[in-house]
Amino acid sequence: MTAASPVHGQALERLLQPTRAAAIDSAAGTGPPEWLVSGRWRVLAQPRFAGMHGTEIERFDLASGQTVGAVHDTAAGSVWIPFDLEEAYANYVTEAWRSRARDRALGPWQLAAYYRVKPLLPRSWWLLARRAFVRWSGLPAFPVWPLDDSVFRLVSFYAHCVLLAADVPEATFRWFWPRGYRAALVLTHDVESADGLRVAIELADLEESRGFRSSFNIVGSDYPIDDGVVRELQERGFEIGLHGLHHDRSLFSSRTAFVEQLPEVADAARRLGAEGFRSPSTHRVIEWLPELGVSYDCSVPHSDPYEPQPGGCCSVWPYFLGGVVELPYTLPQDYTLFTLLGSKSIELWLSQVEAIERRFGLVQCLSHPDPGYLGDRDKRVLYAEFLEAVADRSDVWRPLPREVAAWWRRRDSADPADPELALGVMRRREAHTYASLEPPAR
Ligand SMILES: [Zn+2]
Repeated sequence: MTAASPVHGQALERLLQPTRAAAIDSAAGTGPPEWLVSGRWRVLAQPRFAGMHGTEIERFDLASGQTVGAVHDTAAGSVWIPFDLEEAYANYVTEAWRSRARDRALGPWQLAAYYRVKPLLPRSWWLLARRAFVRWSGLPAFPVWPLDDSVFRLVSFYAHCVLLAADVPEATFRWFWPRGYRAALVLTHDVESADGLRVAIELADLEESRGFRSSFNIVGSDYPIDDGVVRELQERGFEIGLHGLHHDRSLFSSRTAFVEQLPEVADAARRLGAEGFRSPSTHRVIEWLPELGVSYDCSVPHSDPYEPQPGGCCSVWPYFLGGVVELPYTLPQDYTLFTLLGSKSIELWLSQVEAIERRFGLVQCLSHPDPGYLGDRDKRVLYAEFLEAVADRSDVWRPLPREVAAWWRRRDSADPADPELALGVMRRREAHTYASLEPPAR
């Protein structure tokens, strides 16, 4: 982790907030970060070698063929980790791992060329080209798509070490969601055109009739914004977010461009009453996101190999980037599922919801009201089917994205007497499966 990292040095501890103190010796080695591999789990961190003696609780392989072990000294009641747990966490959620991965992302020049040529060729041509590219390049080994367990595993491993070091079979930690909800689900939409903004009302009707509210992220100055539609959505309890000033990569194309656009971004957010931001086509420079001056950002995927800037934070939980709450989107985008992969069913979305609920995370659905997306009747029917299928999950909290951001801040700093807070239980299990996390009774 460099000094410029937007992730707090104790971010993993802030995420779990165990109520039991434990002696865990976890620190970075002196060499460069590299992959430490244990089975199907991989951690990017600076390994260290001078260990202590005791019972080995986990072993990690390095590319050099060497191995390093995490060790439990039962006599001293402490656990020694061959890397810094916090560094490993930060390297996932800041996508720092991209510097160590074989990247199939387009470079800056290729992206610039793409945006120059894009308007010249029809949509159908681009769809065929992207499908061919997906088939040719295949899925990356990391992050696993559609769900990557790296951060979940790191948190379970950390909990396991806390329990071992404290020599207790179970302990409590600060539960993730208010009032003991098992998981959270938010619906978000990016509005790409004036046509999309008109269909937004139809989507709002669909959602409202099933007890949902969602957010609509609007582009600041690319298309005429119908203030009547914006007002109606807000009055009906929907949220308006900002989807950049222009739908291109100009904001993140250079540091100069970013600094130049910032005042206009702030103006547009104020005009729309937006507390949240999603970058156009999820272009991002993670280190700059804290400067956006918004309450939350939702541009970082959990795992998305299909975007022009592929990647992922591997986390099913929100996290802090400086003072901004990052809400990772965790379902495959509507375009990916229904258009690129040509799926005629919502099966993948539903299995992903189940998987995230089992990990007590945030389900965030990203779709578009525009033609070619949910603006098409057949896709809107599938979306309605999805809403029906998730509407009756009483254990899942269904807030607006800005409410999740507010909750995440409250949870982070709340005093333990806060009536919304609950305690989860982490319980020791067999070696290698680490600790289980269990929700509070509701
Ligand atoms: Zn967009």
